[in-house]
Amino acid sequence: MAELTLKQVRKSFGALEVIKGIDLEVASGEFVVFVGPSGCGKSTLLRIIAGLEEATSGALTIGSKDVTYAEPSERGIAMVFQSYALYPHMTVAENIGFGLSLARRPKAEIAAKVAAAAETLQLTHLLQRKPKALSGGQRQRVAIGRAIVRDPKVFLFDEPLSNLDASLRAQMRLEIADLHARLKSTMIYVTHDQVEAMTMADKIVVLNGGAVEQIGSPMELYRKPATPFVAGFIGSPK
Ligand code: ADP
Ligand code: MG
Repeated sequence: MAELTLKQVRKSFGALEVIKGIDLEVASGEFVVFVGPSGCGKSTLLRIIAGLEEATSGALTIGSKDVTYAEPSERGIAMVFQSYALYPHMTVAENIGFGLSLARRPKAEIAAKVAAAAETLQLTHLLQRKPKALSGGQRQRVAIGRAIVRDPKVFLFDEPLSNLDASLRAQMRLEIADLHARLKSTMIYVTHDQVEAMTMADKIVVLNGGAVEQIGSPMELYRKPATPFVAGFIGSPK
């Protein structure tokens, strides 16, 4: 069953159309990567799915629900940003639980969910630290923890590793893949990095200038690139 569908989604900023009629189906549990050069509309598309940006036209469903006009909090999604956006004055535990506190969940429930997320992300020994006392990788794990406690149907990641150095990036790629394997949730991951796309995705959506160039598995894109753009971008041998 499709967890997420986009039908002819368009977005303009003034006279500039940056998302040009995108159709997409994401199956439940799928790991989908949006890849494409800087400025091609990846973040805008993700923000439309999250409800942080309204589509100019088109329709969006999550689960069986039409969420085209739904508030972000009604969509069952959680987004992990590139800049970790942690609150510097709060501990790791408070940062992870913050969204639940805002939603006025009972304290015992918050504590239990924070503990479980920390366990999943190997942050248990760091729960009382402040963000400034964490490494880049640990901060990124806290940001992921904030998403996990909300039990989303769909996780959205916007270039979450681009501030990390190469070796840490490789490690975090494995950790996110492992997380996906364990949670079995639907994940949409945005990157401009072809290697990240090819190694992490069940399905890749190649974007160029606000439109889909091709959708397929890493192997399909590599073996049968639909356009010269895809061949060049993915590095296919032709
Ligand atoms: P990507 O994430 O692929 O780098 P973006 O989605 O951030 O691309 O941007 C796509 C295009 O939309 C760019 O040309 C960008 O300048 C433009 N854009 C994004 N957000 C806005 C905005 N709020 N107002 C005007 N133009 C925007
Ligand atoms: Mg972006």
